[in-house]
Amino acid sequence: MMDYIVVGLGLAGISFCETLEKNGKSFKVITDNSQQASQVAGGLYNPVILKRFTLAWNAQQQIEQTKPFYKHLEEKLGEVFDHELPVLRKFASIEEQNNWFEAADRPGLDHFLSTIIQPNHNPSVEAPFGFGEVKYTGRIDTGTLVNTYKNYLDQKGQLQEESFEYAALEVKENSVVYGSIEAKNIVFACGFGLKQSPYFGYLPLNGTKGELLVIKAPEYKEQNVIKSGVFTIPLENDTYLVGATYKWKDKTNVPTEESKNELLEKLKTFLKCEFEVIDHVAGIRPTVVDRRPLVGRHPEHSNLYVLNGFGSRGVMIAPYASEQLYNYIENGTPLDKEINIERFTKKYYLA
Ligand SMILES: Cc1cc2nc3c(=O)[nH]c(=O)nc-3n(C[C@H](O)[C@H](O)[C@H](O)COP(=O)(O)OP(=O)(O)OC[C@H]3O[C@@H](n4cnc5c(N)ncnc54)[C@H](O)[C@@H]3O)c2cc1C
Repeated sequence: MMDYIVVGLGLAGISFCETLEKNGKSFKVITDNSQQASQVAGGLYNPVILKRFTLAWNAQQQIEQTKPFYKHLEEKLGEVFDHELPVLRKFASIEEQNNWFEAADRPGLDHFLSTIIQPNHNPSVEAPFGFGEVKYTGRIDTGTLVNTYKNYLDQKGQLQEESFEYAALEVKENSVVYGSIEAKNIVFACGFGLKQSPYFGYLPLNGTKGELLVIKAPEYKEQNVIKSGVFTIPLENDTYLVGATYKWKDKTNVPTEESKNELLEKLKTFLKCEFEVIDHVAGIRPTVVDRRPLVGRHPEHSNLYVLNGFGSRGVMIAPYASEQLYNYIENGTPLDKEINIERFTKKYYLA
């Protein structure tokens, strides 16, 4: 008997597997490519909401877990995932500069917001009011992480690449059986794919489609993340990620002309050099009605668990939420109320 089956190998699945390995638990992963969020994500970790200059939910605690978590993965897998990059928020006016200074005085935010206004030195950028810098930020190369982790598990015989067939799952009192695997518990970390689940489909996962472009801009020469109407994130060889869009109706992973045009329009408001679009990707963020993760135990089946709802902040939330779930299952430590799916139990009985 195994300890766990994990369904889904995006940021949620990887983080939970890491927690299992750390604690010496046996597990097998079943995953497919039906969802793409972790493959295509911009991968930024940034504790500050740059629209309103406020701290993201639970950001201080999450950022403390973020760096050591990915550092450990780098050492273990022999790859670089964490690229430390300052995020520069372009100011649109003097008023915005003032708002920034006010925010930088607030406890919590003072740690992350630099109080020096950075003038623009990049001739390819239009930014007459300069930038505010967020500290301790960077980018996790989530696409490389997913692929590397898949190979890692595959080599150890712990990966089954296929779509999980819910009808084939037998839920017993103290275990679950799926094909030839019997395990004490099963954790569903399926991103927006959770919508198909007969067990957790009642949870109010909305899903927000996001699209990103990759551009090549040899004259841009920018080493920081620039945030204006869109982000530009430096990659290698004069290429940059440009994103992202937020769409609530379309739930496919197909890039659209409409979103491409939207991104280009916003990009051209501040990027004044030549560039060419060399790639265009899309994925569905697993967003929740109340913008909090979905973590916990099924209302009726005590060996079925969910780890989901990371929205647009999977990089920072995943290590924290995985730790929470693990301690809840194995040690009986109560989950943070805000993330516990018990807040939606009524919906289960009404469904
Ligand atoms: C364009 C875009 C930009 C983003 N930028 C950022 C960013 O800069 N910073 C940040 O922190 N976050 C960002 N995000 C959000 C981040 O990508 C998500 O929060 C995170 O990837 C969610 O991870 P997950 O593992 O829950 O889901 P997913 O990445 O969707 O992974 C779920 C996995 O489960 C698999 N699966 C689903 N159903 C089944 C099934 N039935 N059988 C087998 N396997 C199944 C899927 O195929 C997939 O492999 C971005 C998202 C998008 C779309």
